[in-house]
Amino acid sequence: MSEDLQHERLVYLEAVSKIYPSAQGNVYAVRDLNLDVRSGEFYSLLGSSGSGKTTTLRLIGGFEIPETGRVFISGEEVTWQPPYRRNVHTVFQNYALFPHLSVAQNVAYPLSVAGVARAEIAQRVGESLAMFRLDGLGERRPNQLSGGQQQRVALARALIDRPKVLLLDEPLSALDAQIREQVRQELRELQRRTQLTFIYVTHDQEEALALSDRIAVMNQGRVEQIGSPQEIYDRPTSQFVAQFIGKANFLAGTVQEVGKEFAVVDVRGVSLQADPGNSTLATGAAMTLMIRPERFQMGKYSTAQNQIAGKIESKTYVGQLVEYQVSTPLGTLKVAQLSGRGDYAIQAPIQLAWNASDCQVIPPPAQP
Ligand code: ADP
Ligand code: MG
Repeated sequence: MSEDLQHERLVYLEAVSKIYPSAQGNVYAVRDLNLDVRSGEFYSLLGSSGSGKTTTLRLIGGFEIPETGRVFISGEEVTWQPPYRRNVHTVFQNYALFPHLSVAQNVAYPLSVAGVARAEIAQRVGESLAMFRLDGLGERRPNQLSGGQQQRVALARALIDRPKVLLLDEPLSALDAQIREQVRQELRELQRRTQLTFIYVTHDQEEALALSDRIAVMNQGRVEQIGSPQEIYDRPTSQFVAQFIGKANFLAGTVQEVGKEFAVVDVRGVSLQADPGNSTLATGAAMTLMIRPERFQMGKYSTAQNQIAGKIESKTYVGQLVEYQVSTPLGTLKVAQLSGRGDYAIQAPIQLAWNASDCQVIPPPAQP
């Protein structure tokens, strides 16, 4: 591996599998997983409960040893190295603060264990408490703090000895909805400022989209797709990812024509132009067309490549959006528009328009 690539791949998992024995036989918590996390990246593992996120984090942190594959940090294989040899820290879901130690003692802990001199510990802990807006709270016990403050103590402790990588397992899940967004913002700013590498586990798609440089979407121990939030949202490569992140219409049809720029597909006898996505398309093959509800233009005049007449079946106000159900020759479509952009009555005939780049061909769902 070249120097550059080693730097680029700060954390690298190569074909890693973790198997737990169970009464029903072996369970693959993680199966054949390949991941590369770059230095300075905010990288999220996103998936529903049981998809293998925590196991992946524990494999990186050294709390689990994989049955197959290898784990590298900074180009060095650490598959068999214990956690304390990896220069990686973890912020656990429940923070795992020491209840009998004060805030300052909690934050100082990694330095005390490493045998750092008292005076230096005092100075660094003081700086850290200031940085995490915990000044004046150093003498308190964890149970005398709010949830948000406890979380900042956990972060301060995890960062005090400047690890290369910070692993965070659903760190916001114990917080009230009201402060969750504020803490989320603080986390992002902290990561930007310190340029540290964060590997962040969440089941919350909104959180992953808002925070991450890149997201790995996990499903049943495997990675479904890796990309920037925009790539994952705009160019999902499977129905699973498109459905997991945001809302979408899925139209079953066949491929009519494969062009360089776009594909022509047939849905219920209607020809539509579409972004071919990453799929390798063959003329006549079954496919699914994915369109996000907000990509439709509603109204009379549009030069967009795809146009269809429809009738409003229902509408729902959801804050700044209005969501419509529109019956069309393609089936009933979910359409979302900004509130105030015209208001359409139930049963009103309307025209929907969208560009080829607003809809994407993805593989059809697997046949059972
Ligand atoms: P997530 O964090 O995405 O919710 P986990 O990594 O915790 O998922 O779990 C993945 C799968 O592995 C689940 O089916 C879970 O039940 C199983 N699993 C995790 N840890 C253990 C364990 N220590 N023993 C047995 N099965 C486990
Ligand atoms: Mg978990």
